Amino acid sequence: MDKVISVSIGEIALKGQNRKYFEDQLISKMRNAMGEISYGKIYKEQGKIYIEAAEEDFPEIINRIKKVFGLVYISPCYRVGKDMEEIESASIEIIREKLREENMKTFKVETNRVDKSFPMKSPEVSKHMGAVILKNFEGLDVDVHNPNFYLYIDIKKNAYIYIDRIEGYRGMPIGTNGHGLLLLSGGIDSPVAGFMMAKRGMNISGVHFHSYPFTSERAEEKVKNLAKSLSLYTGNFRLYSVNILDIQKELNKNCPEKEMTILSRRFMMRIAEKIALSNNMDALITGESLGQVASQTIKGISVVNAAVNMPILRPLIGLDKIDIIDIAQDIDTYETSILPYDDCCTLFAPKHPVTNPKLHFIEESESNIDVGALVEKAIENMEIYNIK
Ligand code: ATP
Ligand code: MG
Repeated sequence: MDKVISVSIGEIALKGQNRKYFEDQLISKMRNAMGEISYGKIYKEQGKIYIEAAEEDFPEIINRIKKVFGLVYISPCYRVGKDMEEIESASIEIIREKLREENMKTFKVETNRVDKSFPMKSPEVSKHMGAVILKNFEGLDVDVHNPNFYLYIDIKKNAYIYIDRIEGYRGMPIGTNGHGLLLLSGGIDSPVAGFMMAKRGMNISGVHFHSYPFTSERAEEKVKNLAKSLSLYTGNFRLYSVNILDIQKELNKNCPEKEMTILSRRFMMRIAEKIALSNNMDALITGESLGQVASQTIKGISVVNAAVNMPILRPLIGLDKIDIIDIAQDIDTYETSILPYDDCCTLFAPKHPVTNPKLHFIEESESNIDVGALVEKAIENMEIYNIK
């Protein structure tokens, strides 16, 4: 009897013909995530993926593969032959380990017999094992409704016995759903937006707009750190950094002050769309949430959309700030996001921004400036970082 890590894959298991492709994607992402850690074989067996490795490396391996999207549960488990005696001794061993935790008084056995040639049916195995456990562990009781722990027995080519199920993030493996360009500010919302689209299988790159030297180098550093945090989930992360100071000055000189935010947002979209198109990306992503600030009214969003043709994905659109902060804390971007460095949006920020902009007025304001040339120039001067 030896120990392996099992990985269950939920949603992608439903994908019929695409299933093999998704599983292979997932395995390759898991290999990347494990990096330099040594491990043995990774194999598929009837609906799950298994990793052979030294037991002392399990915690680090689990910690790393947890960040791979598409995983539902991860469990350290005993792997034994399809034989009742072996199943019994592995079950006793794993329960003995579990009882080191406090307050483990009740259990329930759940058997999943995938191999129908195994002579006992699932309920019979559970019943039999329940009796074996009661005999071996005084003070432990069965509770079928609300047990302190479950003992899981999967009977397939091998038999696998496990108790703990560590939750993954679910979702889809990265790279199975196109490539999005995330507008990454230094705030709380945009890293969460990137995480959420990555979780749906999108490859993610980022673009950050700054007004150096009005915004500081530390602000830029902060955004690189956010990109780095995201790269733990997305793999290598490409960050485009664009200075829009000239654009902001031009807008400030030629356009109504109250339109500053919406006008600069439209420039951001145009620049982002150009970068996306020339790098084969499929969509733009922002951290906007409806009504959160003056520029995020439905009218504001419509006017911003009208600047580009590419779809703009806004995965946070229906979330409250508190929900967003919860996710930011969970994915470890929050502490970086709240560092107090200036964002380019605070430069020339209007005291009373328009909340109900009309597209024809906005277009009229833009007719005073050379939009195309400003976009070209900003892109010519942009910098690109590859963040690992
Ligand atoms: P965040 O917390 O992401 O900064 P926010 O609540 O501050 O969002 P806004 O400032 O209105 O909201 O920005 C809305 C979205 O526009 C951001 O989530 C981001 O996607 C994009 N954005 C804003 N400023 C920048 C910037 N300097 N660089 C790149 N994207 C930006
Ligand atoms: Mg912001």
